[in-house]
Amino acid sequence: MSTGKGIDTQQATHLAADDDQPPAEASADTGGFKPDAELPAASALGAFLEAPPSGTPPEVVEALTLMAGDPADPLPPRLYFETVEQSPVAISVTDAKANILYANAAFEVLTGYDRHEVLGKNQSILSSNATPESIYQQLWRTIQRKRPWTGVLINRRKDGEDYLAELTISPVLDAAGRIRYFLGMHRDVTREHELSVALRQQKTRIETVLDAAPVVVVLLDTDGRIILDNQEYKKLLGDLRGREPLALLRSALQQQAGFDPLERAAAGEGFRDVEISIEVPGNAGPRWLSCSGTAVNESDSSLSGYFIRGDAGDQRLLLLANDITGRRREIERAHLENLRARLAEQQLAQGMREALTAASYQLQVPLNMIRAASGMFKDGTGNPALFADMLGQITQAGETALATLHAAMPTQVPEAGVNVNVNELLRHVLALETDNLLAAGIVVDWQPALVLPELSGHKNELRSLFKHLIDNALQALYEGGGSQRALRLATRALDDAVEVIVEDNGPGIPSGLRLKVFEPFHIGWRNRRGRAGMGLALAQEIVNQHDGAIEIDPDYRDGCRVRVTLGNVRARD
Ligand code: FAD
Repeated sequence: MSTGKGIDTQQATHLAADDDQPPAEASADTGGFKPDAELPAASALGAFLEAPPSGTPPEVVEALTLMAGDPADPLPPRLYFETVEQSPVAISVTDAKANILYANAAFEVLTGYDRHEVLGKNQSILSSNATPESIYQQLWRTIQRKRPWTGVLINRRKDGEDYLAELTISPVLDAAGRIRYFLGMHRDVTREHELSVALRQQKTRIETVLDAAPVVVVLLDTDGRIILDNQEYKKLLGDLRGREPLALLRSALQQQAGFDPLERAAAGEGFRDVEISIEVPGNAGPRWLSCSGTAVNESDSSLSGYFIRGDAGDQRLLLLANDITGRRREIERAHLENLRARLAEQQLAQGMREALTAASYQLQVPLNMIRAASGMFKDGTGNPALFADMLGQITQAGETALATLHAAMPTQVPEAGVNVNVNELLRHVLALETDNLLAAGIVVDWQPALVLPELSGHKNELRSLFKHLIDNALQALYEGGGSQRALRLATRALDDAVEVIVEDNGPGIPSGLRLKVFEPFHIGWRNRRGRAGMGLALAQEIVNQHDGAIEIDPDYRDGCRVRVTLGNVRARD
């Protein structure tokens, strides 16, 4: 008996009772579902069954009774069909060879095929030919063993668009246990797949970035359990020979910085650039790390948090530790070098003072003799032999004093040529002069070239060159007495040289003296104390050694502008 739908209702609901019938074939009269049209038929059926005409075969009465359902049963058999028909999942029923006998409304919507077009056709009508053969083999192996199969296939809609179908096939057996039909249910999971691929890609990207970061990164929950870490963390774990770095970092922060990072995170607070040290086995000296922590709030992933919007979520700590051991050691080394240099300077000054004292004492002897000889010469009491003897003694005492002075002369240690970044040197010298500049109320305008080629040069000599020039500018500003004292330092890359400008708005240098200031022992300052007049002469010498030039800018009228060009620019590979 046909209901006029894609599948016989009786077969769809009472399959087990019909074991000798072949699977229903799709027929031309199978059409769209019209639920309301059945209602009068149902009441007519009820009336028929109340008093079936005599001679009606009992099987027919039985079948019709099943169809009409039991008024006492709130779930009439018809309901099962309606449930399938109206289900939002694409459902089809096929024969044992996957020929479609029935397809529901959702199937039509999802595949784009009208059910008339697919009835009698094989389910392979949906195949895009992109699903590997092995999947179909596995599918068929499973369902032929009378077991349900669930998997994902690439399907093609009627309009040619592919989609990912999550399909469950369930065999429907007859009373004898033979496969009679297959029930197929599928839904479009393309969006889920795209999202999961995007999520995987995002995760891979994050992991790549984290692993490439030259910083220890670790994400913790409030109990200190590691949720995520990166390669640098694992490397530290190896360096610590398996001792958990987190425990060490945490206790170092507690002991050296006085706080527990996890407690901070639990309170929603972070911290930045806290320097700590930990001992690493076999490593000479401690390892210094600069730690920063960020409190991160992660949304609650438990089921209880599903419906709660704006939930407090779980507090996490993102801990970053940057290895600054190299920088620390560099600072310590620079500190030691500075100390050593100061001691050497003190020793040198002490030695010079002693030598000068001895020489001035030794010079007293010839001076006294010269005074005595000149007195005798004035009085006319001396004679040539006596004078000759005194001159001999004066010469000898003078030479002794000279030898003492020569011996005290510090030997010049030749400095090796290295790659020099002029901006860096100037910055160092400026840093050294900061106190003096502040004390004199000088505004410094520092304009370094953003990119400057390196020079091959002598760092110390270049440093003392810049120091001479800045000291001169300072002295000029001081003696000029202007209220708005300004010092401008600028660097610039020329074709094959580096230019340095040291400019002050002091009294300037008269045009007649622009060359003379470079002569040794020339002193133009009002306050000559402590000045030997050698600064610019030495500056000239240092510049010459670096294939450069130094000049007082003749066109600058608002003070003094010294222009230095330094050659020896290193050729780039
Ligand atoms: P086919 O030659 O049809 O099959 C490929 C391989 O599958 C064969 O080499 C063989 O190993 C196996 N195979 C096919 N038919 C049988 C059979 N009768 N008995 C034993 N092994 C067999 N496919 C889709 O692509 N999309 C769907 O949405 C889809 N839904 C299905 C729903 C149901 C209820 C059933 C039973 C099958 C469904 N199939 C679906 C599978 C479909 O019937 C085809 O097997 C598949 O599409 C491959 O088709 P084909 O023409 O490329 O190759």
